[in-house]
This record gives sequence, structure tokens and C-alpha cells, in this order.
Amino acid sequence: MNKQDQPLIFELSNPGRIGYSLPELDVPEINIADVIPSDYLRVEEPELPEVSELDIMRHYTALSNRNHGVDSGFYPLGSCTMKYNPKINENVARYNGFAHIHPLQDESTVQGAMELMYDLQEHLKEITGMDEVTLQPAAGAHGEWTGLMMIRAFHEANNDSARTKVIVPDSAHGTNPASATVAGFETITVKSNEDGLVDLEDLRRVVGPDTAALMLTNPNTLGLFEEEILEMTEIIHSAGGKVYYDGANLNAVLSKARPGDMGFDVVHLNLHKTFTGPHGGGGPGSGPVGVKVDLIPYLPKPILVKTEEGYQFDYDRPQSIGRVKPYYGNFGINVRAYTYIRSMGPDGLKAVTENAVINANYMMRRLAPYFDLPYDRHCKHEFVISGRRQKKLGVRTLDIAKRLLDFGYHPPTIYFPLNVEECMMIEPTETESKETLDSFIEAMIQIAKEAEENPEIVQEAPHTTVVSRLDETLAARKPVLRYQKQ
Ligand SMILES: *Cc1c(COP(=O)(O)O)cnc(C)c1O
Repeated sequence: MNKQDQPLIFELSNPGRIGYSLPELDVPEINIADVIPSDYLRVEEPELPEVSELDIMRHYTALSNRNHGVDSGFYPLGSCTMKYNPKINENVARYNGFAHIHPLQDESTVQGAMELMYDLQEHLKEITGMDEVTLQPAAGAHGEWTGLMMIRAFHEANNDSARTKVIVPDSAHGTNPASATVAGFETITVKSNEDGLVDLEDLRRVVGPDTAALMLTNPNTLGLFEEEILEMTEIIHSAGGKVYYDGANLNAVLSKARPGDMGFDVVHLNLHKTFTGPHGGGGPGSGPVGVKVDLIPYLPKPILVKTEEGYQFDYDRPQSIGRVKPYYGNFGINVRAYTYIRSMGPDGLKAVTENAVINANYMMRRLAPYFDLPYDRHCKHEFVISGRRQKKLGVRTLDIAKRLLDFGYHPPTIYFPLNVEECMMIEPTETESKETLDSFIEAMIQIAKEAEENPEIVQEAPHTTVVSRLDETLAARKPVLRYQKQ
């Protein structure tokens, strides 16, 4: 049977069939209406499918087979670093001493877990070149907001509250301006030049006494290294602002260059991207934030400290921006990242970067004859191509992305960054073999040929998936989340 023909649970429903068995009642039966206020009681019985345990098993297995993940196929979603998640991470995260502890346990009983968190912070300090790290934020965007709140607290402590603006490049990830807004700042855009890098002249023009910070990704979201980074951080510092590093692209510089050495004051890392936490299903993530010495007093509390009596949480932090997450971050993801760092070692992490960069350059060069290359220069771990040429033939980038599904690939990021027309942002990652890269390249070349010879096949794709084109706006605005009996 084809994946898409597998009947789902509701169609299988058969009155009287049950999928569970409970032990016989051994306590007195009570009348629900006596203990639950009538407002909270169900008026009508819900219509639930009546199926056997085996039917349920097959239903969920069928649903999981319809999903695409790194474990089932190539997933070159630019900016997201969908690399392989080593299974040793899962083994370690399942150790009893990690999986079965409670966040409210007395500190003296969880010293091992605290040591792991402390060591992870030390490794991240070394990797980023920062002076202190917190593991609290739950994701990259949460780290951005945390970092900006610290920058805000720093300026306020210096009686510098006129600094209300955050500068963001036009190629920035959408979370950058969003975090700046949520942290109470106004966002100012700085333009990119024709090389795809921040335009220094424009940066000098927008910076001023109202600049709170510049947010930057390096390499940027075009996969290009900002060569004038030291000059840029200097421009901001001499105007009294702070520089924020969006660490989502760390896979391109890991063990090679450090944001701390480039002049950044705050960084966030996406442990679920660079450090192999599984992601894509909506979490959990982990977005640790590292700061330079100036900003240490403002870190979220508590801070994890090592004392002669062991590891402790320090709450005595009068200038802290406060807690940003219950307990101390998403511990399970921190265990996975720690396992990854320890199992790779410094040489392994260096190899990650080298292979990520060579894979991206190999793919970019092989695709260049078939698609437009807006920035024809050496890329880092990802690159952008444009579907401008195909658009003239009536095939849009969205169509190309949908057609890739027929070949069993997750499409690249499309229409981002916003400053490239018909953009496709491809990140192969270091964990893919040359054979996988070649097969994907062949699929892209075939699609480029189809766009010329047989555009309908691309325009009407996908042809092999359970559902074809969806109305994405309607799906987001009016989602149908519950089975409704026909
Ligand atoms: C993924 C990403 C973010 C946001 O990180 P989340 O962990 O998804 O919140 C920010 N900036 C860039 C460049 C990213 O790729």
C-alpha cells in the first residue's frame, strides 16, 4: 500500500471497538456531577473514533511516515542547520541521573547535572570568546530578546536612556527586528552593498547617540562573511552602542573564528542547530547567551557558580534582568549539546566547519550554470541562488520548492533573505555524503530543464505527496484541528 493510501483512524472507526483496557474499578464509584461544577461538565459526548490498539498504532506510524525529517532524507533548509543528530546524544540524555531528576530537587542531590551545565557554559565561553554564559533562554529568538534586555539595562544603568534604536541589516532574519521591537526598541535598517555585505557608508549614516545596538549575523544570511567586521564593531562602539551576534550561522566559523574576537558584546547560540539538538518539530530548543564583562551584572538570574562546597545557583544579583525561563533552561537539549561537543573534540568541531563550507561551495558551483547566482563569491556554510531565470519561463521559486518534494527532498528556505528576488537559500551541512549532494544537484538540474521544456510539471508539483498545494494563509488563519464527522 502506498504511504498516501493508508487509511487514517477516523475512517477505520467501528462502533463498540476499543483500544484500551483498564483494570476493574476497586474504589467506590462516584457521580461526576457531584464533584465537578456543572459549567465544566461536557454537554454532549464527543465523537471519538472507536478502534483497536493495533489500529491506533498504525494510524500514528502512518502519520510519522508522512513527515520529513533529517533521519528520513536530505533537508537543506538554509539558516536552520538541519544536520544529523547523533544518536549517542539520545543515549546520554536518557541516563537515569539526567532524565529522572526534578528541577525542584535540592541542589546537593543534582551536583552531577549542575556540573554538566557548568562545563557546557565553560565550553561555550571558549567556543565564542565571551566572558560569561547563561543557559536559560529556550531558543534563538528568546536569546535575542534576553541579550537586548541586558543591553537596555546596561544603557539605563549608565543614565543613557536616549538609546532607543537597534540597527539591523536588510538581510537579517525576521526574529532580529521582532526581538528588538518586543524589547522596546525601534528598528533601523542598514542596507547591503552589491557584494551582499553591510554597506559601511550606510552604517555610518544611521549610527548616532540614539543607537542602542547593532544586531548582526556573521556570516550573514547570504552565507557571506562580513570582511569588515572589525571596522563595523568599532563604528558602533565609538558611538557608545553594543554589538549583538546572532549565532545561528556558527556552523560556518566554529573553531575557526570567535564572535568575542570580532568585537561582539553579546551572542546567542542555537544549540538545536549548530550543536545537534533535534529540531524542526517546534522544539524544545536552547539558546544560550554569552556576554562580555560589561554585561555580566545584567545576566538573567540565577547564575550557576562553582564554589568550594560544590555547584550552586546564585540569586544575589541586584542588577540582573531577572529570570527569563522557569528553572534553568531546556536541560535535555543542553545534555545533547554537551555530549556533541565532548564527542567531537576541538579537531572534530574544526572539521565540521571545513566540511560544511566545502559542501556549500561545491553545490553552489555545480548549480551556478543552471540558476542565477546573485553574489558570485566564495560562500561559507550556505549560499543563495535566484530563480529569476525560471520566473521568466513562468516557473516560480515556490514551484521549484514544491517540485523538489517529488524527489524526496525538503526544499531549501525560499524567498529569504528578502533582498534577493526569487531567493533560494541552500545549506547542505557537513553531515551529508557527496552522493547525497550529487543526487540533490541532479534533481535541481532536472527541474531547471523541466522549467524550459515542460513547465507544467513543475507548476503543478508536487505529484507524489499525500496532499498537494495548500492554501497556507487559510491553514494558518482557520486551522481545522479536530476531526469532524462527515
Ligand atoms: C533560526 C534563526 C534565528 C532564531 O532562532 P530560533 O532558535 O528559531 O528562535 C535567528 N536568526 C537566524 C539567522 C536564524 O537562522
